[in-house]
Amino acid sequence: MTRIQVWGLGALLSLLLAGCDRAETPAPAAPETATPAQAVAPTAPAAANVTAERLLNAGAEPGQWMTYGGAYEEQRYSRLTQINKENVKSLGLVWFADYDTNLQQTGSPLYVDGVIYVSTAWSKVYAFDAKTGKELWKFNPKVPGEWAVKVCCGLVNRGIAAWNGKIYVGTLDARLIAIDAKTGKEAWSTHTFDETKKTDALYRYSITMAPRVVKGKVIIGNSGGEFGVRGYVSAYDAETGALAWRFYTVPGNPAEPFENEQMKMAAATWGEGEWWKVGGGGTVWDSAVYDSVNDLVMFGTGNGTPWNQLARDPSGGDNLFLASIIAVKADTGEYAWHYQTTPADTWDYDATSPMLIANLNLDGQERRVVIQPCKNGFLYVLDAASGKLLAAKNFTEMNWADGVDMETGRPRVKPEARYKDTPFNLLPGVQGAHGWHANAYSPDTNLVYIPTQHAYFPMVSAIDTYKQSDVGYNLAIDFGAQVTYYRDKPDAPRTFEGYLQAWDPVAMKEVWHSESNQGPTGGALATATGLIFQGSGSGQEFRAFDAATGEKLWSTQAQTAVLAPPISFELEGQQYVAVSVGGAVQGGYYAPNYSRMLVFGLNGALQLPAITPYVPPQLNPPPATASAEVVAAGSGHYSQYCAACHGENGQTRGATFPNLMLSQMLHSQEGFDTVVLQGALSERGMASFAEALKPEDTAAIRAFIIARANEAKNNPAPAFGAPPAQEQQQEDGEEGAQQPHEER
Ligand code: CA
Repeated sequence: MTRIQVWGLGALLSLLLAGCDRAETPAPAAPETATPAQAVAPTAPAAANVTAERLLNAGAEPGQWMTYGGAYEEQRYSRLTQINKENVKSLGLVWFADYDTNLQQTGSPLYVDGVIYVSTAWSKVYAFDAKTGKELWKFNPKVPGEWAVKVCCGLVNRGIAAWNGKIYVGTLDARLIAIDAKTGKEAWSTHTFDETKKTDALYRYSITMAPRVVKGKVIIGNSGGEFGVRGYVSAYDAETGALAWRFYTVPGNPAEPFENEQMKMAAATWGEGEWWKVGGGGTVWDSAVYDSVNDLVMFGTGNGTPWNQLARDPSGGDNLFLASIIAVKADTGEYAWHYQTTPADTWDYDATSPMLIANLNLDGQERRVVIQPCKNGFLYVLDAASGKLLAAKNFTEMNWADGVDMETGRPRVKPEARYKDTPFNLLPGVQGAHGWHANAYSPDTNLVYIPTQHAYFPMVSAIDTYKQSDVGYNLAIDFGAQVTYYRDKPDAPRTFEGYLQAWDPVAMKEVWHSESNQGPTGGALATATGLIFQGSGSGQEFRAFDAATGEKLWSTQAQTAVLAPPISFELEGQQYVAVSVGGAVQGGYYAPNYSRMLVFGLNGALQLPAITPYVPPQLNPPPATASAEVVAAGSGHYSQYCAACHGENGQTRGATFPNLMLSQMLHSQEGFDTVVLQGALSERGMASFAEALKPEDTAAIRAFIIARANEAKNNPAPAFGAPPAQEQQQEDGEEGAQQPHEER
């Protein structure tokens, strides 16, 4: 078994309990010629003075990074030219700032007029003086810890938006909050779902995506498709927080009036199932792009709930608008077009991966297109105005389809991939060929730089035993079968690795790719000087490639995982590269904290402090004395209620939650129940399960974990032993998988 294989299994087993132009000067004051009266009103905001004009002309201010993808097109392309292929070797650390967490960091920073803003785990936001790294303020939305059980894939946040003096963040408990960019104080806050239903089992919404601001409206979706929610994207007035429009992505109960014609049309593709009872899914949990030319907001939708279509719609309908790219009018949210990447999805093939807009020369004609390297392994090129499919080809190996029919736009699915009666070792697996990790695009090379994943996942139907649950996942597959499947089929391929790939979207072919790292690889940044900056995920490396050839020109060690996409900015005539890092590679939940903002510049000479020597805790469970029946019952409860956070079969997969096999609570049922039934650690994310579990259930769960821990202690094979030293946590955004925790 290779190390990557080992790591992949560890990952499956989750955690336990728990330019050239100078930068604009700071916000312009009233013009010198202004009369006193003019100087009074309207005044520019004291910070984050981002306007429609500035965002629409972001290319004219290359020193800024004012929106998630650098500009509305989300190409993550910096026009700054000071750092180039020749001098990049002298790039060094200029400053760093520690966060107050050791959880995984996925936040893409913003840079506006001398200040870096960045979101971290638990939906917190920091503002740093970009010159010195001094913390200007920190905002904590105080997400209730127990909400962690409603979050599929880690306590992460991928980014924020800036507009007219405010910073906007979506929170894990699905609030949208406006923060005064100068003071760090809350300006307004709104629940993005019906707050009166927030205790309902089917209102397990969360937000990990970055908001975007378009024409004075904050665009935001949400997560929750692994549990059971109804997906939609909303637009809120940026000044007041009032809801401006909402577009649902799946139909509600057809016995009730449809919100619009599109929902009626979509409902006709859902067969005889009663999908609305578990929400339907289709969450908009990552990508959203504004096309200012066509005045459309485009976004991707996620999987259906449950994943297994047999449990959702036995008729096998297309189930619109799951796994689709949708465009709506920016002012009203009215439907414009859609393209469904994966009709009748049964593989968690969200179409939520990052998209970008570019102008390509296709057949001698310039076309404005939207490009998505999709989780399902196909890269799509769509006409931005109409959604017409212009090109589609697999950018990774795949075994579920053998191409896309360009007449119908539908994938040619291999029947066996639908795993009705026979398990299927899916490639790309539910981790996806491309997760939330942001692409870059260079209009100089005309290449897309894709953080690519090569990962298998055994799909095993659990249609016979599936029952909708108010707690835990609603997938209707046997998630725990990952262990037994590979145990029974030791020769079956089972990798999970990531690499950066340069793809030509005109010729539709790969141009180069980097070496692979374990698990997902990091988001990318392109520059006008032909550089690609990108992190190697759990490889802990932050590096720069030649955009044309893939030659590695510079690298540095980050002491932790590098997954978030970097940005570049200019301040006082100097170009910098900033990246948020963090993610346990040193040994999981108990390891020291290296989650930070790192800022690099030419001739930077700062060194990170030496890492703290760390010895992971050793297994020390009490003897296993429970009967096989009790352990089996505990295994079932564990799978239902614990595995989502703490990992399949009792083994942590990362750093967000502790490895329960190491818990001291195993030595006392009373102590165990204090946490599991009485909620003693709820503020740290471990909710009380008293409504779902009885004392005999928690005793069985404890017996199961003890049995697992003894098995691991006595058989220190990597698959079941203590977490390997290099185990990496992955959580992605919202619904993907590093296994459960990379947002899939
Ligand atoms: Ca998903």
